[in-house]
Amino acid sequence: MNILIAEDDAPSRFMLQSLLTKWGYDVTVAADGDEAWKILCDPVHPLLVILDWLMPGIEGPEIVRRLRMKEGNNPHYVIIMTSGTSENSLALALDSGADDFITKPFNNSELRARVNVGCRITRLHEALAEKIYKLESATETIFELARTDELTGLHNRRSFNETFTLVLSSARRHGHPLSLISIDLDHFKTVNDTYGHTIGDMVLKEFSDLLKDMVRIEDVASRWGGEEFIIMLPNTASEAAAALAERIRSNFEQQPSSASPFAVTASFGVAQLQNGDDEDSLIRRVDDALYTAKREGRNRVVTV
Ligand code: GH3
Ligand code: MG
Ligand code: MG
Ligand code: MG
Repeated sequence: MNILIAEDDAPSRFMLQSLLTKWGYDVTVAADGDEAWKILCDPVHPLLVILDWLMPGIEGPEIVRRLRMKEGNNPHYVIIMTSGTSENSLALALDSGADDFITKPFNNSELRARVNVGCRITRLHEALAEKIYKLESATETIFELARTDELTGLHNRRSFNETFTLVLSSARRHGHPLSLISIDLDHFKTVNDTYGHTIGDMVLKEFSDLLKDMVRIEDVASRWGGEEFIIMLPNTASEAAAALAERIRSNFEQQPSSASPFAVTASFGVAQLQNGDDEDSLIRRVDDALYTAKREGRNRVVTV
């Protein structure tokens, strides 16, 4: 454990340094408050700090106040050394944010005991900070997984719905166009029945990769479920959405699939947000368009 000693009185500093070294600690020393603060501003610095109250430059309590302002999950353990001349210096030291104090001249075994407490608490803080870090990254991963379709890596339905509500209200507020493309792969049951579910899965992945390649970064391409997909296109009118749908349709139809020796096609419905639409009515209209595309022979784009 590395300890920072900030003490302007050279003999005291030397004595402290040799005691702490003898007790097995690594020691960093500063001869005044400015030097101490410079060390504490370094990205890697001791977390256990012994500060003299009165020093040239920044004084001990001010250093503690500054530390407390900037520290995050891994706080410092600060012991302030007071000369004990003023009656309320102890209270002031603790009020400034220090964890402990020691009165000069100090008793060696008392100093050792207090530093040991500081060392124990610093280790606990470090372990806690590590746990918090792991928990935060796990939460982030869970958050990501909860919104991602496992097979295709596209947004899942939950993610689509969450974003849809926000994008729809923003489009309404700013009067910007918003379109949806609803997609269903054609005769997909036959694909599975003929070539097996594994090949079917590969076709779904290939189609999803095509979607990822062809949509803009602000578009939300999602797997709605099974062999059905939906794309949300902010700031896009139905004509542009239909043109994109047609490009996807024709690419997919022509794309030689590595998974299957046969051509798979898809049907597309396109609808634009109208006055009076809410989430449900817009989805209903785009599904009606898709249903019409199926009824009219599949492998086509229909706009309502
Ligand atoms: P249509 O052209 O009318 O859409 O015909 P279809 O056969 O695609 O439609 P249907 O709804 O009858 O069948 C959908 C098929 O999609 C049946 C189901 O097994 C398949 N499917 C759904 N989810 C998955 C999946 O995750 N993997 C695979 N391989 N197949 C899936
Ligand atoms: Mg001093
Ligand atoms: Mg379907
Ligand atoms: Mg289908």
